[in-house]
Amino acid sequence: MSNERDTLTQAKKIVVKVGTSTLTYKNGKVNFTRIDKLARALSDLVNQDREVVLVSSGAIGVGVGKLKLKEKPSTVQQKQAVAAVGQCELMHIYSKFFSDYGHIVGQILLTKNVVEEEHSRQNVINTIEALLENGIVPIVNENDSVAFDEIEFGDNDTLSAIVALLVEADLLIILSDIDGFYDCDPHKNNDSHLIPVVYQITPKLEECAGGAGSRRGTGGMITKLAAAKLANAQGIDVVMANGSEPGVIMDIIEGCNVGTLFTTR
Ligand code: GLU
Repeated sequence: MSNERDTLTQAKKIVVKVGTSTLTYKNGKVNFTRIDKLARALSDLVNQDREVVLVSSGAIGVGVGKLKLKEKPSTVQQKQAVAAVGQCELMHIYSKFFSDYGHIVGQILLTKNVVEEEHSRQNVINTIEALLENGIVPIVNENDSVAFDEIEFGDNDTLSAIVALLVEADLLIILSDIDGFYDCDPHKNNDSHLIPVVYQITPKLEECAGGAGSRRGTGGMITKLAAAKLANAQGIDVVMANGSEPGVIMDIIEGCNVGTLFTTR
């Protein structure tokens, strides 16, 4: 176990981000087994006296499944309507699984203008802190039903870094359908290598980030790297890992060598 990984075992306040590709199957239906395992891992972290905030995508993805649509709608209005349905369903599913493990969740929906304005930003911080003090797991998403253009974050990778900053997290874990950060796109190059620890996000590394990601979410490797950069700049460690087995969260917290650690040490 390396020193950098060792410090992760001490992380008290942890933000975990999951994308639509982790929460749903390729056909758009909900992956209950995965959400169950995610709720179990996060519940264990709370049982270890850690504070956990979940940033979850999936409003539109789950809405598409719930409404039995063939694909994501293309117009903003339709997407917002689908998100309104999907967000309810998503929270219902989270609430059910977390309660199986004895925990309560609370929903926080954000838009960019809310975190940019000092007064409303402070209100959000206060609410999240109050939830955490009461042992409740805040689940944050973008308020897709009202967000458009200038008030939207656009992707939840950026949102997760902003939430990590707001709550002054020790660690941000970004789960997706890729094992971590590679020296080149693993979907296109067989000889790509996973980078276990990144000490500095250099322009060369940013060049490596071109394009990897699934079609079901909105963020790719570029937005993940930008999120890592934003969090690192505020002294927050970031681990990027594959969310296909949510038990990976426990491995990360135990200091195991999984995914890519963007260290601030
Ligand atoms: N907020 C969007 C949703 O919940 C997802 C954005 C993203 O995938 O980054 O559907």
